[in-house]
Amino acid sequence: MNVTGRNVPFFNYPWVYKEHEEEILTAMKDVMSRGAFILQKDMEEFEEAVKKFITAKHVLGVADGTNALIIGLKAMGIGKDDEVIIPSHTYIASAASIHLVGATPVLVECGVDHMIDVTDIERAVTEKTKAIMPVQLNGRTADMDSIRSIANKHGLMIIEDSAQALGSKYKGQNAGTFGLVGTFSLYPAKLLGCFGDGGLVVTNDDAIAEQLSLWRDHGRNDAGEVVAWGTNCRLDNLQAAVLNVKFKYYEKDLERRREIAQIYNDALSPISDLILPAPPMEDSEHFDVYQNYEIESGQRNELKQFLSDNGVGTLIQFGAKAVHQHKELGFKNISLPFTEKVYERALMLPMNTSLSNDDVEYVCDQIKQFYGA
Ligand SMILES: *Cc1c(COP(=O)(O)O)cnc(C)c1O
Repeated sequence: MNVTGRNVPFFNYPWVYKEHEEEILTAMKDVMSRGAFILQKDMEEFEEAVKKFITAKHVLGVADGTNALIIGLKAMGIGKDDEVIIPSHTYIASAASIHLVGATPVLVECGVDHMIDVTDIERAVTEKTKAIMPVQLNGRTADMDSIRSIANKHGLMIIEDSAQALGSKYKGQNAGTFGLVGTFSLYPAKLLGCFGDGGLVVTNDDAIAEQLSLWRDHGRNDAGEVVAWGTNCRLDNLQAAVLNVKFKYYEKDLERRREIAQIYNDALSPISDLILPAPPMEDSEHFDVYQNYEIESGQRNELKQFLSDNGVGTLIQFGAKAVHQHKELGFKNISLPFTEKVYERALMLPMNTSLSNDDVEYVCDQIKQFYGA
């Protein structure tokens, strides 16, 4: 028990189920009674709903966000001897997907908003570069105009890791729809979370969509004949049924996240040691959906400890290591000073729809207390 007796966990996993318990149980019973487990109508309905929501031509339900990236890269023809440029401030899965198709992840800096630093991309381009993989981190979409113009200049493809950004927009266009392929994760703690692993892969290109569909289901075409190598990474129909229920409330959920971000911003912006994410209404170019609320503090470790002592759960993203800091994976002698500095300073505050205004204000009060503000 902490000093105050209050507890605001970083994430509330049972809430993923509890929030719409009755409706979800009804939907699950319906699927199970029908015996509709694999590639059934609930998955198709979910794909259709997301397609409309993000204005994309093709959306395919897959096993998870990592497999979405892997089959996305496969469908784009990326493999041996190819290089793909990614920010080092991302989950290991972004880099692993590139490694697993036989290509090499080439790591670049993030900028002040923690998104890929568009000014650091071109120095990483070589003859082997095939694609740029911007990561739409924390529910924000990168400066896609600059990324597109660099990609066009060098003849590169774009694959967006939008695992954290379903519903995020840049200049009115949805994350996941800028590149040849876009991906989403439906992991429980993501913006839209199911009861286990789940993901989506997105494209506006018919030929790529055909490839993705083959990769997802053992290389089988609509007639069930094997016409290519493939794998098994389908989204479970039961998960899709859960997602169909949760998706009805999704826009409301995103608005709530933006409200919470505004409360944090109002309370914490006077503290000069903190760097905060852009507030919801900062500019008209970005519509941020706050998968995470990742702040920077000059006293990060002390602040984290103080909050923990007072019942507030926080997290340092990605196990406190940028991709290039995983020496065991062969990343040696790579220096990305700005990213390294961010990893000494970054901390994620609780950000999810289970939080009440009181919870958020309690977190803010504790931070103010830490700073004597
Ligand atoms: C969560 C996440 C992934 C992987 O998604 P899974 O569904 O867990 O496989 C990939 N990239 C980023 C940036 C993520 O946050």
